[in-house]
Amino acid sequence: MKILIIDSSKVSAADLQDKLTSAGYPDTTIVNTFELAMNTLSTSIGINAIDLVLIDPDLLKIDSTTAILTIKSQHDFENIPIIVITGHDDETLLDRAFAAGASDYIVKPVSRIELRARARSILQLRLEMTKRMERERELEQLARELERMSNRDGLTGIANRRCFDDILVQEWVRNGRADTELGLLMIDIDHFKHYNDALGHLDGDTCLCAVAEAISSAVHRPGDMVARYGGEEFAVILPNTDYRGARTIADTIHTNLKKTCIRHPNSSVGCTVTVSIGVTSAIPTCQTTPENLIHAADCALYQAKQAGRNRTEIIRLPDPNDLRQ
Ligand code: GH3
Ligand code: MG
Ligand code: MG
Repeated sequence: MKILIIDSSKVSAADLQDKLTSAGYPDTTIVNTFELAMNTLSTSIGINAIDLVLIDPDLLKIDSTTAILTIKSQHDFENIPIIVITGHDDETLLDRAFAAGASDYIVKPVSRIELRARARSILQLRLEMTKRMERERELEQLARELERMSNRDGLTGIANRRCFDDILVQEWVRNGRADTELGLLMIDIDHFKHYNDALGHLDGDTCLCAVAEAISSAVHRPGDMVARYGGEEFAVILPNTDYRGARTIADTIHTNLKKTCIRHPNSSVGCTVTVSIGVTSAIPTCQTTPENLIHAADCALYQAKQAGRNRTEIIRLPDPNDLRQ
C-alpha cells in the first residue's frame, strides 16, 4: 500500500513516516509542497498508484479544502482516500474538508495507535472497493460478450436469425422514415443435402463457413448486414438500396463463390458449390411489413430454384395485398 505524506514540516513528515513504518506501512513518499504532491500523484498511476494521502495543510500555501478539491477533481485521483492531519479541532474547517471529499482527520499530536487504526480501516475499505470495481468491470465485460454471442451464429460467426429479425425491423422503420428503399437478399445453397450426404456434416459445416465468407465479402457499407437465416440459408439486409443495387450484390456473391471454388460432388448445377438468390426491395410504408419483404425475397428465391438454381431472381416493389397470406 503506497501512502503519500504532504507536509511542509520535514520533522513532522518524518515522524508520520516512522509511525506508518512501525504500523506496517513502509511504502511512503514525503513531499513538502502541494505542487510536488500533484506531480507525485500524476506520475504514480496504474500499479504504482497512491492508495492513501495524508495531508497536513498547516504550513502549506494552500488550504485543506482547496487541496482536497484539486486532488478529487482529477478522474484518476477521485477515489484516493485523504486523511487530514490538523492541529486544531475546528469543526467548520473539518466540515468543509469532509464536504470536499476528505475521508477522515487526525488531530495532532498524532498517536501511532490512532494513525494505524485510521490508516488500516481506510486502506481496507479501499482494497474492498478496488476489488468490487474490478469484479464489476469483469461482469460488464462478460455481459457485453454474452450480448455479442447471443447475436452471433455459433458456426459461421456472422449474425444469427435473432439479430437479423431485430435489425430488419430497425431498418424497416429507419428507411420508412427516410423514404428510402430497403433491399433484401435471401440466399440458399443449391443441393446442400447432396453435399452433406456425399462428404459428411463436418465438411458441410466448413462449406457453410466458406459460403458465409463469400457473402460477407460482397457487402461493404456500414449498415449492410449478413445473417445466417437458418440451416443453409442466408439473408442480407441492404439499407438505402434499391433492387438494382441489391442485384449487384447478388452478382458479386455468385462471383465470389465461383472464385472460392468449393468442389460439389453431386450437384445438378455444376462441379462447385452454388447458391440461388431471391432479391427484393421496397420503401417501407404503413401498409406493408418486414414480413412482406421477407416473403417477396422468399418467392424470388423459389423462382430462382425453379428456373434451374445458381441464379438470381427479383421481385420488385411487392404489393402488400398480393403478399398477404
Ligand atoms: P435446394 O437446392 O433445393 O436448396 O436443395 P438442398 O439440398 O440444399 O435443400 P434441402 O432443404 O433439401 O436440404 C438442406 C440441407 O441443409 C439439409 C441439411 O442436412 C443441411 N443443413 C442444414 N443446416 C446444416 C448445418 O448446420 N450443417 C450442415 N452440415 N448441414 C446443414
Ligand atoms: Mg434451404
Ligand atoms: Mg438448399
